[in-house]
Amino acid sequence: MHQPLENIPNEPAKKQNGISPKFKEIIDELVYRNISRPYKIYQDILLNNYNDHARPSLLQIQNYLKYYRKKNGDVNSIVGLEELVKPKLFTNLELKTYALDEPIYFGSEIMDGDENNHFHLGITSKQLLQNVYHGCTFHMDCTYKIVKYGFPVLVFGCTDIRRKFFPICYFITSHEQEIDYSFFWTSLFKIANSLDINLIELIDYICIDSCYASANSIQKNLISSTIIMCWYHLKAKINKHANKIPKVHQESVVDDIIHLRSTKTQESIETKIKNILSKWNKLRGLKPFLKYFKKRWINSPFRNWKLCNTPAGFSMSNSPIESYNNKIKTHFTDRKKFNLLPVFEIFEKVVMLESRESLDCVISNCAKATYTLKLAAKKEIENISLIEKKDNYIKYICKDRYSVQINTECMCPDCTDCSCSNFLDKAVCTHLIACCMVESINFPGIVLKSFISKTKSKKRKAGYWYEKD
Ligand SMILES: [Zn+2]
Ligand SMILES: [Zn+2]
Ligand SMILES: [Zn+2]
Repeated sequence: MHQPLENIPNEPAKKQNGISPKFKEIIDELVYRNISRPYKIYQDILLNNYNDHARPSLLQIQNYLKYYRKKNGDVNSIVGLEELVKPKLFTNLELKTYALDEPIYFGSEIMDGDENNHFHLGITSKQLLQNVYHGCTFHMDCTYKIVKYGFPVLVFGCTDIRRKFFPICYFITSHEQEIDYSFFWTSLFKIANSLDINLIELIDYICIDSCYASANSIQKNLISSTIIMCWYHLKAKINKHANKIPKVHQESVVDDIIHLRSTKTQESIETKIKNILSKWNKLRGLKPFLKYFKKRWINSPFRNWKLCNTPAGFSMSNSPIESYNNKIKTHFTDRKKFNLLPVFEIFEKVVMLESRESLDCVISNCAKATYTLKLAAKKEIENISLIEKKDNYIKYICKDRYSVQINTECMCPDCTDCSCSNFLDKAVCTHLIACCMVESINFPGIVLKSFISKTKSKKRKAGYWYEKD
């Protein structure tokens, strides 16, 4: 992948005033391949042309790109945007009487988007801001496939206990530095506060990918929130570093990481980490990986990826937000990239539709049994035994290990739970469902059908039967 480009004559390795024709060609080629951010281009050149002393500096690349874009008209045009935004900017609106589903702009800094003039603009609605009350885990993710020239769309939202994603706002920025994220937070807090929504108090858990700029901004602006590291990104990152693990140890290292992930109590984490790290320390050839793992996933803002880092059932990955971003690309932008004005015209529609959808939404306070879970639960029934039963309280034990407690009046994970790690992950498990089936308890997903025989007497009492899946 990192091979020098072919067919480019070598030039004398001498510092020149401008960028040499060879490097202009390389930059043009990179821009053509959609690698258009100056720093990315700088890195690419550093990797592939390290020995060529005519290499351009980062500043030279920035200036060249500015010139290149002006010449080709390839800049994100802000023409017409100010006119679109002004009448719907939240500081210009009487919010109390404004419609729930109408788009509202916030955090407006409509600039060229070059190094010294970052572009920022957010869009939401009163109803989307109300979505914060559905949130177990909050999620933040950037997508690059919507706006032209590498401007990311930052999507911020939350998931309920069933992992349904609710968007809260969309924010387009030209840069992804800590100042850009901090500007996002302070702007969002301003509009939320004006609607008496105290975001800082509501966001207990926020799931991000391993991006230091966004992590730093969260630590400074949301001081009481816990940063949750997306489990899928962590696995992907560790896969990329798998070459640091000698082949013979790969399986056991992965097992250890999964074992660490399923930690059930905060108290046992420290000992568990200590044991695993000292075990790895004794394994031949594992030092480089151990060093990487400690630095990146133990002593960093990205250390919270263990099940006990959130309450039962809270999402610990950004896959709900990633599938949501795919939904936008499929249904609204048709997988094409747009300039800024058309993008915000599209997002005004997205905001209105999402607001109306969430107005119709009913939020549940507990998980739901899936078809496969119910199948597995049927096999688990033989392993459960009743311990205690009084009033609205039922207690079972499963395989002498997992204890299931059911409050027949409430199925939320605070009232009804199991001590296994699957329950900690999803707020539902085979043990709990097996008990609910035996006790004829109406946990969501289990359909208890009252069965009345048609041929026999109508007076027969209706009994509960499990739905045949
Ligand atoms: Zn992720
Ligand atoms: Zn409850
Ligand atoms: Zn369980």
